[in-house]
Order: sequence, then C-alpha cells, then structure tokens
Amino acid sequence: MSYEIIQRYISKNRSYLPLVARGTVVHETASPGDSDESEFNYFNAGAGGRSASAHAFIDNDSITNTVPWNEQAWHAGPTANHNFIGIELCNTLDPSKFQEIWNRAVWLFAYVHVNVIKVTAITKETLMSHAEVSAKWGETNHTDPVAYFANHGKTVDMFRAEVQEAINIMLNPANISYQAHVQDIGWQEQKKNGEVAGTEGQSLRMEALAINYDGPGNIVVEGHVQDIGWQAPRGNGEVIGTMGRSLRLEAVKIHLENAPGYHVEYQSHVEGMGWMDWCKGGEVSGTVGRELRLEAIKIRIIKD
Ligand SMILES: [Zn+2]
Repeated sequence: MSYEIIQRYISKNRSYLPLVARGTVVHETASPGDSDESEFNYFNAGAGGRSASAHAFIDNDSITNTVPWNEQAWHAGPTANHNFIGIELCNTLDPSKFQEIWNRAVWLFAYVHVNVIKVTAITKETLMSHAEVSAKWGETNHTDPVAYFANHGKTVDMFRAEVQEAINIMLNPANISYQAHVQDIGWQEQKKNGEVAGTEGQSLRMEALAINYDGPGNIVVEGHVQDIGWQAPRGNGEVIGTMGRSLRLEAVKIHLENAPGYHVEYQSHVEGMGWMDWCKGGEVSGTVGRELRLEAIKIRIIKD
C-alpha cells in the first residue's frame, strides 16, 4: 500500500530556513470539511505573514506536501519548528472519511520517518502530538489532535502504534520459500516467491509440501490428501501431505494470521486441468472429491 504525495509548495508563509528533522508532529486543522487543496489555497493566499504553515496536509483522497521536508515550517512553536516536521490531518465529521484520512496519515508518517528523517523507532520523543509539544515546551497552547482523534474513537498512542507497524512493513518485506516432495523424485530444491515447485507435464503427483515463511505474523497451511482428506493445520516449516505412502496431495489452503498489510496467494497445477486461478486467504486451491493430483504449486506474499 502506498499513496501519491502531491508536491505543491506554497509561495507565501515560507521560512526558507534549513531543517534537519529528528521527529514529526501530528496536527489536525480544526476546520471541518476542509481539504488539502483548500489548505494550500489558504496558506498560499494574500501577502503571507500568517506566521503559520505545515509540511503537508492530508484529506480523505489526497496528500499535498506544501513546504519542503528540509525547510522549517511554522506549526508548533520555535523549539518544535526547528526540529520537527509538522503534518496536518484535515478535519471531518464523517467516520468513513476519517478512516481514509487516518490510513493516509499512518502511511505518510511512516514514509517520512523511513525516507526523510530516517528515524524508525516511534516514541513520544520522535512522533509527538501538538498537545505534547505544547505541554513540553509551553510555546503554544494547542491541544490537537487529541479531541479530534477521540471523536473518532482513536488516541495518539494508537496512531503511534500503527505508524510503527507501517514502518516495520516498509523495512521488512516478507519472503516465502517452499519445497515439494514429488513422486519418484522426493524432495526437490527450495523454491521461493512465486517460483514453480513440483512438476508440469510429467504426470507426477506432489505428495508433500513444506513452506518457510519469513515475515510478520504466522503462516497456516492445510493439505487435502488422497484417502485421508483434510489434515490438521500445519505451521512454518512443517510438512503437509505424506511421504513414502504413494498418496497424492489433492488441494491446499494457506493463509497468514496476524499479518496486517500482507496476504499470501497460491496457484495450483492440477492433473488434467493445468494451472488454476490464484487463490488467497485460505481458499481451497486444487480439487476435493475428484481424485486429481496436484502436480505443481506457486506461492507468493503480497503487500496490500
Ligand atoms: Zn496543531
């Protein structure tokens, strides 16, 4: 998941002073129904001299970067302005629009922490609310976005937790590898990230499969085996199917647990049918009750 950042710098209300940020401040605009476009127009209008600005504004359908990340903006008093990037969430009373704004904000803060300021541990020192800035340095009296978040059932701590999760996903792409045990061949070499395991056009049954997943959450795999039916769920590295019993694997179900931002997809090559459609989220891939062997499989992890 990523969003477009529209770079459209205001020409008024600019400091033109350098900024090497060590953190971010989260704000809200307190103007219900506003947009990043209307905020751009507000801060870009007139003679300047509002002595207020922010690095970016987020509404439910876009993000505008209004001051360069490496230039001081005027959002939270001198101490914070000299050290922090300030980002404003637009204000809405609509719960579904709020969720869109929240999702974009979580992503944008993660993006800025990873790519701009390169501070990837989120704490009360590295991602502050304007309320926390006011309490710490006493140079402003704003308490945003606490009430706005509360109106929508959220807290600043929840925001920090989600930004940290999004950062972790940006820093740690997931990998999957898997190995097929095939009739007359035995265990094949390890395959990974969508490569073909098993065989095509050789009329050989896949008898077992082992999957190694390296990423957030856990992988859960179930195999449907000739004469046995669905086996109990297996975890990372465990063997599904059978070995040494000449039983065909007929179908699999695979899903990820506790892995926000990721899902697993898998595609089976079935006797007499060839490659079937990609499946995801624990859907049955292969056939049940038709006595057809799985011959090959591809598995991949998708970042949402
Ligand atoms: Zn503020």
